[in-house]
Amino acid sequence: MEDKKQKKESKNAWLKYDSTQLEELNTLNEEYKNFISSCKTERECVTEAIAKAEAQGYQDLRKVKEVKAGDKLYYNNMGKAVALFLVGTKPLEEGMKLLGAHIDSPRLDLKQVPLYEDTEMALLDTHYYGGIKKYQWVTLPLAIHGVVAKKDGTNVCVVIGEEDTDPVVGITDLLVHLSGDQMEKKAHKVIEGEDLNILIGSIPLKGEEKEAVKANILKLLKEKYDFEEEDFLSAELEVVPAGRARDFGLDRSMVIGYGQDDRVCAFTSMKALFSKQEVDRTAVCLLVDKEEVGSIGATGMHSKFFENAVAELLDRMGEYSELKIRRALENSVMLSSDVSAAYDPNYPSVNEKKNTAYFGKGIVFNKYTGSRGKGGCNDANAEYIAKLRGALEKHSVSFQTSELGKVDQGGGGTIAYIMAQYNMQVIDSGVAVLSMHAPWEITSKSDIYEAFCGYRAFLGEL
Ligand code: MN
Ligand code: MN
Repeated sequence: MEDKKQKKESKNAWLKYDSTQLEELNTLNEEYKNFISSCKTERECVTEAIAKAEAQGYQDLRKVKEVKAGDKLYYNNMGKAVALFLVGTKPLEEGMKLLGAHIDSPRLDLKQVPLYEDTEMALLDTHYYGGIKKYQWVTLPLAIHGVVAKKDGTNVCVVIGEEDTDPVVGITDLLVHLSGDQMEKKAHKVIEGEDLNILIGSIPLKGEEKEAVKANILKLLKEKYDFEEEDFLSAELEVVPAGRARDFGLDRSMVIGYGQDDRVCAFTSMKALFSKQEVDRTAVCLLVDKEEVGSIGATGMHSKFFENAVAELLDRMGEYSELKIRRALENSVMLSSDVSAAYDPNYPSVNEKKNTAYFGKGIVFNKYTGSRGKGGCNDANAEYIAKLRGALEKHSVSFQTSELGKVDQGGGGTIAYIMAQYNMQVIDSGVAVLSMHAPWEITSKSDIYEAFCGYRAFLGEL
């Protein structure tokens, strides 16, 4: 009864916590801030997810010979996507319970030939990744994360700009005194894509006649990381905001950090899986790359990698068959988790207030996404939503429903529709975010906690 009353008034979740829950909420958020502070690329997320999984007893599926109920396994896809499995007591063909999220975030990627010198300054050319407001990325301390793959087969891992003693890099902006022309431009032209150039140095190398500043940078890179200019050709270096995630608000109720879309759902999904030691139907946490650019490519959700992982799993159970793979996928249920746009009191006009996500109101469900008449959406079945409502209410999880803005205001998509192609039940769920896709995004700690509790309830009840 109490629950129903809460639902109707859509009570703020902060009001319901006792001291034990508050402690759990804070512990989870401290770990979350550490996770997004050190995992700023898809590769770093996979490495950390596997390290956390191994600490929980998860093993590499490719290396095990036999699989039985209770086994914990991971399937690594090129270091950029990963599926974690907790094997259930029921046959796999009865379906799985999937928690999916993406671990790529908007950023600036270095071009393949990035380094140049102009007026005795060394710069790096970039091509932005995902949807960004380019003007947000200037005059910020930026860090460089990624790998340089060398011809000898070794990978050099690079993280520059995260330690207090590290230098940072960044993109300059025009001084306001000379911005007369710039200020007349439309927002998407104020800073243009080709002008997102990272300033990285200004000391010329002594004795060098031509491009001496660039030569000095190359000397530094050789000394510190042992790679040459041509090695940029086979590098994946991502430029991201430098610095750690922090508490936001005088009451410390929120988190500000880079890449919360969608690592906030990735982290909470993973933690929910780790909270389980046994399940009836096999529980899965699926963390994928390339969502921000259309989920294409070997490490994106359109890839066959997850299907292959399920085939491998059936093989290790001694039950491999094409039909069983299809049944396992078709009989599955999924929370395709991605962030939602939180209601912003500064910009009330883009939302319709009844069908909008708010901070402190819990995990968000989007029955459909899409744009212009639900175009391109995965419209979750009413019956499936009813089941989810039951599971969440049973565990007193705060939840809300939302649309991405007013009708015809804009739109977006996630990985839900891709999984729905297997004919499984999928719904979009996740955490509300302010300043989505900006270098520093903001979330509510209580929503993060409710997402974790929601995912845990899903794995227990569905
Ligand atoms: Mn997203
Ligand atoms: Mn996004």
